[in-house]
Amino acid sequence: MLKVKVPEELPMGAHRYKTYLSEWAEKHDRSGAVVHDKLQIFIAPGAEPSVLMESYSHELVHIIGRVFCVHLDEREVDSLAEGLTQFLRDGLGIEFDWSNIETIKANLPIAVDKLPTRRSPISSAEAKQAARAAIAKRTAGTT
Ligand SMILES: [Zn+2]
Repeated sequence: MLKVKVPEELPMGAHRYKTYLSEWAEKHDRSGAVVHDKLQIFIAPGAEPSVLMESYSHELVHIIGRVFCVHLDEREVDSLAEGLTQFLRDGLGIEFDWSNIETIKANLPIAVDKLPTRRSPISSAEAKQAARAAIAKRTAGTT
């Protein structure tokens, strides 16, 4: 496997998103979160390497959607992130190195709590509701 350092700052469009390993995300059983208004990505640090990579890919797809105005629901984001992760890991033999990324205790907006956790199974009805909520969150600044 080729180790590639996760960049502290991710350029996307006219913006630069800063990445943190976030104990907050782990405590709330979330794999990750992105706060667009603050240009911050939070990834839960305790997961297996493939889960960390998929979580980062997931937030990356959210950012691409937001910055380039592609309207994706949560399930579409998950699917694209899984495919991207598989390509990076199995297609290119890449493994992420998180040594550049700061670990913090972050306080995210309370609205993020209302999104489903990625580790819990959700029904189709819940998925649709979560997708609608995620789209609504874009205007509020978090996904
Ligand atoms: Zn998401």
